Formats: sequence, C-alpha cells, structure tokens
Amino acid sequence: MEIQSIDFKNKRALIRVDFNVPFNDKQDITDDTRIKAALPSIKYVLDNGGAVILMSHLGRPKGKRSAKLSLEKVAVRLSTLLDKEIKFIDNCIGPEVEKEVKKIKSGEIIVLENLRFYKEETLGDDAFAKTLSQHGDVYINDAYGTAHRAHASTAIVAKYFKEKCFGLLMQKEIENIQKVVKGSAKPIVAIIGGAKVSSKLGVIKNLIGKVDYIVVGGGMAFTFLKSIGGKIGDSLVEKDIIHIARGILKKSREKNTQILLPHDVMAADAFSAEANTKVCEAREIEKGWMGLDIGPQSIAKYTKCIENSKTILWNGPMGVFELDPFSKGTIEIAKAVSSATQKGAYSLVGGGDSVAALKKFKLEQSVSYISTGGGAMLESLEGKILPGVAAIVNS
Ligand code: AMP
Repeated sequence: MEIQSIDFKNKRALIRVDFNVPFNDKQDITDDTRIKAALPSIKYVLDNGGAVILMSHLGRPKGKRSAKLSLEKVAVRLSTLLDKEIKFIDNCIGPEVEKEVKKIKSGEIIVLENLRFYKEETLGDDAFAKTLSQHGDVYINDAYGTAHRAHASTAIVAKYFKEKCFGLLMQKEIENIQKVVKGSAKPIVAIIGGAKVSSKLGVIKNLIGKVDYIVVGGGMAFTFLKSIGGKIGDSLVEKDIIHIARGILKKSREKNTQILLPHDVMAADAFSAEANTKVCEAREIEKGWMGLDIGPQSIAKYTKCIENSKTILWNGPMGVFELDPFSKGTIEIAKAVSSATQKGAYSLVGGGDSVAALKKFKLEQSVSYISTGGGAMLESLEGKILPGVAAIVNS
C-alpha cells in the first residue's frame, strides 16, 4: 500500500493527482499549491526508475470539452517547477494517448487532458476506468481533494491494477487526519464555523464524545442559538434543522463534549462592509440586525479554550471574514490556533475558507498541517471511509 514498497524500475506509474487549480480572467494560474503538493510523488517515481503519466480533473466541464478548463497550462507550470520537458496530450483516452504511453521511457512525464471532459469520469463508469488503467503498470492515488468521490479515476480504476498505492501527499493527509481522530493528546478542541450547520452535521455528530470541546462560530451558530430560544434577528438560520441542532446540544451534554456557542456577536444592519455595526448579545439580536461575526467576549472565551488545548481541528470561518468589519473573530481564532501550536499543540486546518483565512492573515506556516481537501477531510472526520481510500485498501 505504501509507495516505498513498490519497485518502479522500468514501470509506468499512472498517477491521479489533484491539479484543480484556480485561474484568473487572463487564464493565468493564481495559486499553484496543488501542483507543488504533487511533486514529491512524481519525483519519487522518477528517482526510482519509473515513468509518470498524470491524470486530473479541472473545474466542472460536465462531460464537454472546454478550452478554459484545459490542463495544458498546468503542464507548462509543472514543467517549470521540475525544470524538465513534459509531454502534454490533449486527451485522456484514445489512439494518441495509447501511442504515447506505449513509448514512454523511464524518467519521462506525460500529462493527460482533463478527465472530466468525459462524463464517464464523474459517473464512475467502469469501461472508462478500464481504458484509463491501460495507460500504466502501477496506479497511484495522490488526489486527496477528490478522494471522497467515487469517480472512475479515483475509485474505480484501482481494481484493474495489481500494484497500487497512495501517493506521498495522500499518505500524509490520511496520517494527519488520523492524528485528530485517534489517540490524540487531550484536551481536544474542534473549531467549526462557516455558513451552514447542515453541511457539517455529520462531522459535529461524529465528534461528539470524541472531542472535549466544539467551538461553534459563523452563520451556523444561529441555528443552535435559535434552538435554545435565542432571539437572532435577521441572522442566517436553517429553520428545518433547528430541532436537529437542539438534539445535538442535548447529545453533547450526555457525552461530555462541551459545545461553546457565541456569547456576543458583531451585528450589522445589512450584509455589507458599509453597514452600521454594533456588538450585542448573541441571543438578543434585534429585528433588522444580523450577526456577522463573533463578538469580543466570545473571542476571549474561545481563545482561552483553544490555547489550553493540545489537539486542535479547525474547519470554517467565525464570521464573514471576507468583509473587513467582520473578520476579527476569524483573525483572532487563527492567531489562537497558531499560538497554541507554538506552545506544542497539534493543529489541523482544512476547508477552503479556513485555509484562505490563514493565508490572508499570513499564518499558514504556523499551524501543524493544512489539509488540501475540504470535503474529503470533513467526510473522513465524519468517520466515513473515502471511496478513493477504500479502492486502494480493499481492491
Ligand atoms: P462554509 O463554506 O460553510 O465553510 O462557509 C463559509 C462562508 O460562511 C464564508 O463565505 C463566510 O462569509 C460565511 N459566513 C461566516 N459567518 C457568517 C455569518 N454569520 N452569516 C453569514 N455568512 C457567514
């Protein structure tokens, strides 16, 4: 299962990577973190006498070709990063690919075109997966960001290989998530924020009984506050799951996990950076006002809890951090996670927005591990075995 246990000499490694990088209007790559994250596995295979065939998705072309979602520019960036010539083929299956993968030599790299130009990829089509499998002798899955999807290239293709393993990035992701899930140092705190409770219900339920504290921030806090009779004004609320939120609070009391809800909030009279603002009690928000960030007392309480913890998981911002007047809660929580880490705690941060917040405040170097997979990390934390992981372990 480990990359180190495979002999790559004169073999072709078909590697599923996550090259789903962001582009600007001029079609330039704005963040190549994901390309860089794939380098260790690529280098490992090359250094050990193998050839590399890379496959990935980019965006959501929904089964149709799209010039904007071509991986060609990614191949060019990869070539620059490795200082090495790379062959890009504008398809991921078909005669041209078959010809090139047949003649590839050790030390060479081919990048295939976006897998999602074929709808069969997301459908997890078996015949498509079988065709892909013919491009290599060994299969490596290094695409943690899509490991929670049962797509042809992430889950189905694996069964056609005798030799398969996780890539170095995926191995690291799995190990780091295990650190939070199993046998971690106590107290353990999970900081859960973001817009909606509904998207994080599974994680919260699974963490109850396993962690000591769940610190709740962001829009999701108001569904919890409403469930205990709070007046939340015009704050974000998911009315249909108020009873579920109440049930979660009850279960947490039974299982000795303390859920911390905001005591005060930064309220605004509009969802805008120009709105009027005031700090008020989280359960006493007037009509016409909405809570867009946690308030100073909540920041103080949450910071203390985080700084006393030995294991920290963070997913989701504490407020509308994209707008300056409502970014303080997220900044202060990011600082608390960073300072606890300096004092020896282990911290795992995941999810696009929390990572964006860390980057915005230049704190990404001061946490223990940043996961490259938001959805995949959440599903792992829900206790699910990801299809991309199961395919390597079980097939
Ligand atoms: P998620 O994708 O669920 O992690 O949610 C992230 C989004 O939640 C960010 O874009 C935040 O602006 C938004 N958010 C955080 N706090 C609030 C809030 N109090 N009200 C509305 N949106 C919020």
